[in-house]
Amino acid sequence: MHIRLFDAHNHPCNYSGPAKSVDGGVKACLCNGTGPEDWESVLALAASHKGVIPCFGLHPWSLDKARAGWLELLEDFLTRAPSCVGEIGLDYSIDAEPGRQEEAFRAQLQLAKKLKRPISIHCVRAWGRLLAILKEEQPPAFMLHAYGGPAEMVNGLSRLGAYFSFSGEMMNPRREKMRRALLTAPPKRLLFESESPESDAKFQDLTPAEGLAGVIRAAALALGQSPESLGELSWRNAKIFLGKYFPAKL
Ligand SMILES: [Zn+2]
Repeated sequence: MHIRLFDAHNHPCNYSGPAKSVDGGVKACLCNGTGPEDWESVLALAASHKGVIPCFGLHPWSLDKARAGWLELLEDFLTRAPSCVGEIGLDYSIDAEPGRQEEAFRAQLQLAKKLKRPISIHCVRAWGRLLAILKEEQPPAFMLHAYGGPAEMVNGLSRLGAYFSFSGEMMNPRREKMRRALLTAPPKRLLFESESPESDAKFQDLTPAEGLAGVIRAAALALGQSPESLGELSWRNAKIFLGKYFPAKL
């Protein structure tokens, strides 16, 4: 796929490097931090690659490791570079107590609102609660990474301004629900990403850049359009979603 692609979700550990930016590979991406232990490497990666947009946030999986003062440290990182808040969210498939998850999530939504930063959200088995919190907090622009919620919730989330990012998980034959959500999501809110919990095992012959092109190809097939036009659409969507945080001159 010889066009520019935007990877809406990855991490410093699976960033594929600048070589992949040439020749229609990944040209820009949102690189997510998950806690104080990787914020420094996200910042360094963004400082050395102009297509990397850094995101700093405390992931629900990192909640138990976080020491007092993490929220102040997060604000400090966010002011050190043009950056987004992420990844943050709710995950009811893990042990971390829902009340504590919600407290950390709301605090970070409020910080994003205060600093006017786009947000990258992770949600697993907590969709009803997520919608209620988003309605209350009214955050700035946000995207739902690897959207796995019901197609029926797409409209309600869209009204709040959600962008929907789809991953390689959508190619799993058992994830019909994800494909239905893809067909329901408004085209102007579509994004695609290389990160998928199962991508390493299932698509181990694909590099991350090929992985993203593969995700876009599969989505294009489901939507009945060309991969090139869908790739271009998601690039334009990312520019609108990120506004001034989208790298200049790309
Ligand atoms: Zn992630």
